[in-house]
Amino acid sequence: MPQSAEKVLDHAKLFHEPEYQEMFARKREQFECPNSADAVAEQTAYLKSWEYREKNLAREAAVINPAKACQPLGAVFAAAGFEGTLSVVHGSQGCVSYYRSHLSRHFKEPCSAVSTSMTEDAAVFGGLNNMIDGLANAYKLYQPKMLAVSTTCMAEVIGDDLHAFIETARQKGSVPQDFSVPFAHTPAFVGSHVDGYDVAVKGVLDHFWKGKTRVANGKINIIPGFDGFCVGNNRELKRILDVMGVEYTLIQDASEQFDTPSDGEYRMYDGGTKLADVADALNAKATISLQHWCTRKTLDYAADAGQETASFNYPLGVGATDDLLMKISELSGKAIPDSITKERGRLVDAIADSQAYLHGKKYAIFGDPDFVYAMARFVLETGGEPTHVLATNGTTAWAEDMKKLLASSPFGKGCQVWAGKDLWHLRSILFTEPVDLLVGSSYGKFLEKDTGIPLVRLTFPIFDRHHHHRFPVIGYQGALRVLTSILDKVFDKLDADASKPGKDVSFDLTR
Ligand code: SF4
Repeated sequence: MPQSAEKVLDHAKLFHEPEYQEMFARKREQFECPNSADAVAEQTAYLKSWEYREKNLAREAAVINPAKACQPLGAVFAAAGFEGTLSVVHGSQGCVSYYRSHLSRHFKEPCSAVSTSMTEDAAVFGGLNNMIDGLANAYKLYQPKMLAVSTTCMAEVIGDDLHAFIETARQKGSVPQDFSVPFAHTPAFVGSHVDGYDVAVKGVLDHFWKGKTRVANGKINIIPGFDGFCVGNNRELKRILDVMGVEYTLIQDASEQFDTPSDGEYRMYDGGTKLADVADALNAKATISLQHWCTRKTLDYAADAGQETASFNYPLGVGATDDLLMKISELSGKAIPDSITKERGRLVDAIADSQAYLHGKKYAIFGDPDFVYAMARFVLETGGEPTHVLATNGTTAWAEDMKKLLASSPFGKGCQVWAGKDLWHLRSILFTEPVDLLVGSSYGKFLEKDTGIPLVRLTFPIFDRHHHHRFPVIGYQGALRVLTSILDKVFDKLDADASKPGKDVSFDLTR
């Protein structure tokens, strides 16, 4: 084989070696239905047609490449935002490997989560013993300050009762009587990771707030929501709040956990909202969510506790950041300082500088409901057209919100909202109604390859590019980065097109 310890080849180069090429050819012949090149070309062309699009969009019985993950992944991410907290997922090991690898591949950091290792016997007789052993092992081996329990499909299908199981485990000595074990049922066969995030955060609040008397203070709770850019975003948010002099508690802050330094010390737990602060957050004046669709149940819970609540759709762009800052200013009584107002002005200036390259650009945007809403709003601000907006985990209510947003701008005219559709649907849509730019996660790279539409990676998960999540995309500063990422793609395409033979007419140094 061409691989050797002396000269280790990356898989991309390795697979071009003759041995692998020959193996691929044999595989094609023996296992992959060896149709003629003409038949393959004909079918490929058909898959780009309007006729196929109609059939594809009528598809109901199958989902292909959904732009979402399952509920427990959101719960595992949520747990990483609390001090010294280890996720315990009641279910099978393979599921938990998926959450760990998904989060590790995105953040390029280790992600700790354990499972109760349910197998066939637990599926038949129930997973109580798995919970008893799982909590005991997790507590003894990993010395957490809190164990946050969620569930996989298997535990939900057989109807395991988390509350009863955890209390039984406590009585049997798995964890001390007063040890914190919040829980959330996260059935993976409904909803998505944003719902898992929601119920997991609510579960933590319920654990610390239930039965306590609220003594209101002037603080504000802020819940960021499921955010693959939490490392950069939460730090940017804290910077803005500190500049404003606001007293706040960030509830669920995974920015340290997913960005630990290399200094010789392995930190299984780092940062996160302090558990004492979570308990005290009951007394806050208000709870604000930065992502409405990630926190519906949690906000209802905060409202029931007597707090004012408000929610936003990811504060990305000029208007969205304005809305958030004005609300924080209103609730806290703190003015928005000149330094932040100046940042706003710089962002508006940057958008104006690049108008010639932004105006009228058509976009397809996919991702979580709040991100898609925010991105579409920002595109409208730049004079672009969010021609197709798609959220596999978008509801009918989300689609209505999107339609209202699009109707609020002349650039939204004719734009289409695709709630509940997947990335194979989007492929058909892009072939039949093409756009200039695609905005989404790394999963869009297959669409980019097939359609030639440049992909701007701006949301979770980003597996195939490094460190994007370390820089903010929210606030005025974050919007500058988003703007730059978009413009880089526009200019790269202009240069690439001008470099084609016979087209070298406008290969500009200055734009
Ligand atoms: S969908 Fe169900 S089986 Fe698949 S990873 Fe999620 S919990 Fe596990």
